[in-house]
Amino acid sequence: MIEFRNEPFTNFADPVNKEAMQAALTKVKSEFGKEYPLVIGGEKIFTENKLESRNPGKLDELVGIQSKANRDLVDQAFQVALERFKSWQFVSPDVRAGYLFRAAAVMRRRKFEFAAWMVYEAGKNWGEADADVAEAIDFLEFYGREAIRLGGPQPLVPLEGEDNRLTYVPLGVGVIIPPWNFPLAIMAGMTTAAIVSGNTVLLKPASQTPIIAAKFVELMEEIGLPAGVINFVPGDPGEIGDFLTGHPKTRFVSFTGSRDVGLRINQIIAKTAEGQVWIKRLVAEMGGKDAVVVDESADLEEAATGIVQSAFGFQGQKCSAGSRAIIHKDVYDEVLQKVIEKTKQLTIGLPEENYPIGPVVDEKSYNKILEYIEIGKQEGRLVAGGGKAEGNGYYIQPTVIADVKEDARVMLEEIFGPVVAFCKAENFEHSIEIFNNTEYGLTGALYSNNREHLEYARKYMHCGNLYFNRKCTGALVGVHPFGGFNMSGTDSKAGGRDYLLLFTQGKVISERF
Ligand code: NAD
Repeated sequence: MIEFRNEPFTNFADPVNKEAMQAALTKVKSEFGKEYPLVIGGEKIFTENKLESRNPGKLDELVGIQSKANRDLVDQAFQVALERFKSWQFVSPDVRAGYLFRAAAVMRRRKFEFAAWMVYEAGKNWGEADADVAEAIDFLEFYGREAIRLGGPQPLVPLEGEDNRLTYVPLGVGVIIPPWNFPLAIMAGMTTAAIVSGNTVLLKPASQTPIIAAKFVELMEEIGLPAGVINFVPGDPGEIGDFLTGHPKTRFVSFTGSRDVGLRINQIIAKTAEGQVWIKRLVAEMGGKDAVVVDESADLEEAATGIVQSAFGFQGQKCSAGSRAIIHKDVYDEVLQKVIEKTKQLTIGLPEENYPIGPVVDEKSYNKILEYIEIGKQEGRLVAGGGKAEGNGYYIQPTVIADVKEDARVMLEEIFGPVVAFCKAENFEHSIEIFNNTEYGLTGALYSNNREHLEYARKYMHCGNLYFNRKCTGALVGVHPFGGFNMSGTDSKAGGRDYLLLFTQGKVISERF
């Protein structure tokens, strides 16, 4: 088999790619307003209760209408998934992986179309949407190969007179709960990791981005995945969320989202439901309060670029977003000045027209971010942005708040928007103390040309993904297995060699002869 390689990003400066993207945007727009069903055991079910998915950059545009599941339908999906598990668990890993490879091939062929759906539904610009599709393809290719590797012989110490084998068997029926911010990559990665390991799943997409998930479910049907392996049950988290995770037939929950919802799920699954005969397993990847640290030896131009990219890429709506900049006092003013200049150059507008900054995802996020900007104005000095931006959508100016104390709310709480707080450090050790002063521990970056500082940071910067002399966003599948410490989650290392083990259990069979 060809060795895994990351899917390249598209160069939109090439007129051929630009035209292809424009054509995909036109095609996808012509499909706006369609209704999408639940899919349970291959059966397409339209319900009375529906969710409207709108373009956050142009609010009068209805991207699609998604049917919603109620508890009865979720219960029905559990029965179907349980039944399908009886045979799917024994399908060989090679065959299961084959479905992922076929899905990757089709997605690669229809890359621009999948990107276009995200431009409209999630407010991603072209580059961000393209990277999301590339990551989804990477997950399919990587987890397919991983399933084959885990399905092969595993090393054990030999014992005379016995044949010993360790195999990884699936867990059962899983509940997949992804976020909206990587609506294709994370959703598809979480779902396919579980199924390629031999589990069957109920997939409940984020309410902000059900249509891109529906498109993925259509694709899995198109490539011939047996009915009932993925059951698609969008719905209100208030109505079906706790029911899904608390269900006695749930064997595991794979969740990516906020700290509060992750902790709630952790509590719910800890209770043993009647008829439950296992300890439910939780894979939970949660929020972040990531930071870029700059010392006095750093290349300040590079550092300022890294801060701006980490803070404002996809409007700061990445769990890895650098929402804090912690700068040594000797270079603080210079870095701040450079960041202000670079921030002021960022133009804001419609994602389909490929502006660097687009809208945030919905009204709730919009209001929350604007509130945090007001808090930031009290806690520090506003030096760029500072409020709403023009447009028929949820547009917010990229905002920089300077001179913030290390224990300010904007230094501790996840804002999940285009806001970065600047904090001055007295010395290098102090900057690392500030870095570690949150309950999260997802990503971090250090800009430095001082070897001792880099080695110190290797030990003491406490986070799951640490980057030196580059931005703190943009993990690549296989290259940077991804997951965080503390309240950032269970450190699952998605896109890494440990990931599929989370969806399996080891079985050792010893035959004496
Ligand atoms: P969220 O927690 O609001 O929602 C995540 C998912 O949980 C959604 O599908 C939602 O519908 C569902 N949900 C809500 N309540 C539920 C309940 N009671 N039971 C079951 N499901 C429920 O998060 P979000 O706004 O979609 O995503 C943003 C968050 O995700 C940020 O905190 C971000 O840092 C985090 N995130 C983390 C990673 C990571 O790898 N660590 C990656 C992406 C996003």
